[in-house]
Amino acid sequence: MAVAWLDDVRSADIESVGGKAASLGELTGAGLPVPSGFVVTAGTYREFIEDAGIDEELFSAVDVDHEDTEALREAHERAHELIMNTPVPDDVREGILAAYQDLGDGERFVAVRSSATAEDLPDASFAGQQETFLNVQEDALVERVKECWASLFSQRAIYYRNRQGFPHDQVDIAVVVQEMVDAEKSGVLFTSHPSTGEPQIIIEAAWGLGEAVVSGSVSPDNYVIDRDTAEVETITVADKKMMMVKDEETGETIETEVPDEKRSARVLSDEEIEELVALGERVEDHYGTPQDVEWAIHEGEVYMLQSRPITTISDDEESAEAAAGANGGQVQAGDTSQSGDVLFRGLGSSPGIASGEARIVTKLDHLDQVGEGDIIVTEMTMPDMVPAMKRASGIVTDEGGMTSHAAIVSRELGVPAVVGAGSATRQLEDGQPITIDGDKGTVSEGAEPKQETPEPIEEARPKTPVKPMTATEVKVNVSIPEAAERAAATGADGVGLLRIEHMVLSLGKTPTKYIADNGERAYVDELVDGIRTAAEAFYPRPVRVRTLDAPTDEFRQLEGGDDEPHEHNPMLGYRGIRRSLDNPDLFKHELEAFRRIFEMGYDNVEVMFPLVNDAEDVFRARNLMEQAGIDPTKREWGVMIETPAAALEVESMAETGMDFVSFGTNDLTQYTLAVDRNNERVADRFDELHPAVLKLIGDTIETCRDLDVRTSICGQAGSKPQMVQFLVEKGVSSVSANIDAVRDVQHEVKRVEQRLLLDSVR
Ligand code: PEP
Ligand code: MG
Repeated sequence: MAVAWLDDVRSADIESVGGKAASLGELTGAGLPVPSGFVVTAGTYREFIEDAGIDEELFSAVDVDHEDTEALREAHERAHELIMNTPVPDDVREGILAAYQDLGDGERFVAVRSSATAEDLPDASFAGQQETFLNVQEDALVERVKECWASLFSQRAIYYRNRQGFPHDQVDIAVVVQEMVDAEKSGVLFTSHPSTGEPQIIIEAAWGLGEAVVSGSVSPDNYVIDRDTAEVETITVADKKMMMVKDEETGETIETEVPDEKRSARVLSDEEIEELVALGERVEDHYGTPQDVEWAIHEGEVYMLQSRPITTISDDEESAEAAAGANGGQVQAGDTSQSGDVLFRGLGSSPGIASGEARIVTKLDHLDQVGEGDIIVTEMTMPDMVPAMKRASGIVTDEGGMTSHAAIVSRELGVPAVVGAGSATRQLEDGQPITIDGDKGTVSEGAEPKQETPEPIEEARPKTPVKPMTATEVKVNVSIPEAAERAAATGADGVGLLRIEHMVLSLGKTPTKYIADNGERAYVDELVDGIRTAAEAFYPRPVRVRTLDAPTDEFRQLEGGDDEPHEHNPMLGYRGIRRSLDNPDLFKHELEAFRRIFEMGYDNVEVMFPLVNDAEDVFRARNLMEQAGIDPTKREWGVMIETPAAALEVESMAETGMDFVSFGTNDLTQYTLAVDRNNERVADRFDELHPAVLKLIGDTIETCRDLDVRTSICGQAGSKPQMVQFLVEKGVSSVSANIDAVRDVQHEVKRVEQRLLLDSVR
């Protein structure tokens, strides 16, 4: 059978009908008023390409370098042409048309919608990635189904699958064919408050077809209903200038002006509100979680067009207060909050409040579209975004935790950021004015009045001129050489961590590719330049520079990244010292950069090796350093403690003669608690103050004090007062904090040291 009726489809059929159809089938089965329809199954698509023998050509056509825009465009065109030029077998055509004839009177207008089977893939979940056609009739139906199939190979879809290393031949596509509801009114309904989860039903309603509300092109009416009392709390009637309707002659969806008498009239009657509320409660009961429902009303009948779980609810009470009355986009009457309602939340990862226009940036877009003062909204920042990040007034990402690239770099640039916001790229419109709070992690509707923003360097300069003198050194972390001057202005005692991977990633090519194209000397020059910028800004204060530690998924995004291994979990894979030891011919160039830096007289530079596990790792790294002409007995060098193994093995590691260890709590926490630091779903479990992590750190400090090895911290937790207190009490030699936290950490260290002194004499 080429098709399956929605009546017979359930959630579990996702493999054969895709996510959208499975959800519509489930709702139909639950007795909810879903317009009738059928699905051209994923199997039908698969048979079509295989029986026609175009499958292999199709998959090889799209196996291109996804960073090459031209190649991507050609791949898409070739795939489209292959599918559109291949005739649909007669039995499939007949099956589709026969099903269409069974819908109503056989002349109905239908919507033809793609429903991809790999719903959890970024390409499939990216709204609008695959095609939808409205108001289709029999004559164009089969062609439209083919268009949907071909949309599996849109440029964006190819790009994302390639980038994720997801094989093209493992994604299929089904197509939903469903009666159009010629809506007089339509909109969306949230069964619970979209940011706070409060028991409020929020309905947005406009005249005509729903696309206008969903796409945000009209301002709809807004109704807030208390679910406990069923009372309508507020009604905000919007001035509705435009509406979408079906053109009676062509059947196309067109935009027209709302007739005068309807412009400022309320869209929903009390009875309709009641009906929608009842519908919302049935859907939420069915799924057991808050839902975001698209609905339409035709001749007094309410229909459900789609239902999705609301993913933006936070259980934080603060957000409930901040977002009182939020409605997912429209500012409420009587709303008194300055910058409008909280639209959604993520993790506040770089402090400060910023307002500006949202600029949705994908890897396919040119970064020059990011203007001065815009707020970058992206899945995850890339090293090549740093210039644009500097121009931006704020940054919002879908993915990532407090130690992700976006979080680290934005902190260093002093640009407020909210990371791990889930679906910011889909929820925000390009150009939409928003305000972000990088402390609270909120993204709100509307722009706050502009405030004077001080120069980043001036802002980093301590407001009180007297630096708290502490026995424990307070240093600063630097990841991008551009931030060195700002970091030096903090008055820190040196750099506790200079990450060189950001220098390497910003070359846009993997080291191997860069060397192949530009030569070894050029690669070493780049490293020397980056390190020297920081060494110079801090001289004679010490600068601890770490050798390369980038996971393969970050390298994969660079030119030459195709040669990187596909790793199931790059965080546990080929990174840090294990990769350097495995590839000494490449590693020697990094060591050569250090040798040249020393030769230039920068005796304040120290060498640090990342992700070591035991004495063998450290001995091998030390030997390579010696072979590169650096005398380990004359230079300061040490290792990071980022794995429980390293913490437990520190005594034998000390036999190498290393001078210091530094706790990388970002990794130490992830490996101790088995919590992926970049996975926003488990971000609430990422606890650097967990007793297990503290035990490893405390014991290591004790051992190192006995062995005369200095200890430090350079993970994100070094900026947290509780961690600072713990470390100083244990006798850590230095603490390295983020630029914005240095002064507070200095005060915290001083406070703890004074208390310890007082305790000792009392
Ligand atoms: C750490 O793991 O804490 C650390 C500082 O290294 P990175 O964040 O670069 O992995
Ligand atoms: Mg680390």
